[in-house]
Amino acid sequence: MSKAQKVLVVGGGVAGLAVAIGLQQRGISVEVVERDKDWKVYHVGIIVQANFIRALEVLGLGKAAEKAGYPYKGVRFMNLAGDLIAELPGDPAADGLAADLGLTRPALHEVLTTKVKELGIPVRLGVTFQCFEDSGEAVSVDFTDGTNGTYDLLIGCDGNYSAVRKVLWPEATPKFTGQGVWRYNVPRPKDLEWSDLYIGKAGGKAGYCPLSEEEMYIFAVFEEPGNPKFAPETLAVEMQKRLEGFGGILGEAAKAVTDPALVVYRPLEACIMPDPWYQGRIVLIGDSAHSATPHLGQGAAMAVEDAVVLAEELANREVPQALRAFMDRRFERAKLVGTSSIQLGEWEMHPESAGDPVELTDRIRKKLAEPV
Ligand SMILES: Cc1cc2nc3c(=O)[nH]c(=O)nc-3n(C[C@H](O)[C@H](O)[C@H](O)COP(=O)(O)OP(=O)(O)OC[C@H]3O[C@@H](n4cnc5c(N)ncnc54)[C@H](O)[C@@H]3O)c2cc1C
Repeated sequence: MSKAQKVLVVGGGVAGLAVAIGLQQRGISVEVVERDKDWKVYHVGIIVQANFIRALEVLGLGKAAEKAGYPYKGVRFMNLAGDLIAELPGDPAADGLAADLGLTRPALHEVLTTKVKELGIPVRLGVTFQCFEDSGEAVSVDFTDGTNGTYDLLIGCDGNYSAVRKVLWPEATPKFTGQGVWRYNVPRPKDLEWSDLYIGKAGGKAGYCPLSEEEMYIFAVFEEPGNPKFAPETLAVEMQKRLEGFGGILGEAAKAVTDPALVVYRPLEACIMPDPWYQGRIVLIGDSAHSATPHLGQGAAMAVEDAVVLAEELANREVPQALRAFMDRRFERAKLVGTSSIQLGEWEMHPESAGDPVELTDRIRKKLAEPV
């Protein structure tokens, strides 16, 4: 047995690109296959915190991400009318790096893909695996473009509806949590330096986060009984309904939600895998291993932290030991984020038995400021 020398990454999203960069930087040869031939990402924003920026900085990309987005002061909780309830300022964990950052998903994609290109990592678009076989010493893969290859490790980074997971853990499927999230980009008020979360409306909450000097995005997380499917042309009207009754900056900004084609709606579907996230020489990271709800804004951070830790362990140990060490460093942290996110959604849907969301959010934010 020896350390991994050649690795296949299935999925060119946040986790896949981050792990490909980390491996290549450590001298491990890596290839990426991405199913989407256009490599498109949703246009709305992504909210991240210090632990995301710190993990990206390990790959040399923290500053680039910061430049591509809008660092803001932290999270404020507001009541329905827009009056301040609590203020959770960011706690910068990495020297000189922002504690809270908003950026558009395309801006993050650009930061990651620029590095992937600079490192010369091969990415095949519009291609995925047809089937794979793990011999114990290596994984042979047949691809949908008719080619094949043999790798020391296959990393499944193919997101919440992972096809890799489906092959090895067919019983693990994302479950609807009862809520859906609505997102829309709008102009940023000139002096807005916080991400604000308005609570107190039955069934959910809404807020906004700065993304750039010019833009912020509005998000609304609400109970969606029966997991309804919405006709695309109704999306702006439906989002407006969820934003009714909010005052303050949110009430004003909500008036700009008018174009149904620019609304991004997702039912919340989570799948948190038990330990281990690997079988033999195939491992899952990112959403494929632990997709949660967006209540803590940690999906991307968990994906990048997974990537950084896995690359580090693979560079230091033989594959089986590296995978075990990876799990030991990642499982509890990712599970805590996932279960706490789902808990916050439960509390929103059942306020009669709810705990304190401000306290829980604050506790997790502090926990995540600790090193991985
Ligand atoms: C609208 C929206 C807003 C979000 N906002 C936030 C936020 O504010 N903060 C935050 O932290 N997180 C947010 N998230 C979650 C965050 O985007 C994910 O947690 C993060 O991208 C996980 O990274 P990943 O690489 O595991 O999955 P993804 O980034 O989803 O990447 C998966 C990749 O795999 C590809 N793929 C899928 N199937 C296959 C296959 N069979 N073969 C090859 N390739 C395949 C996909 O095309 C995709 O490129 C948001 C998600 C959505 C949908």
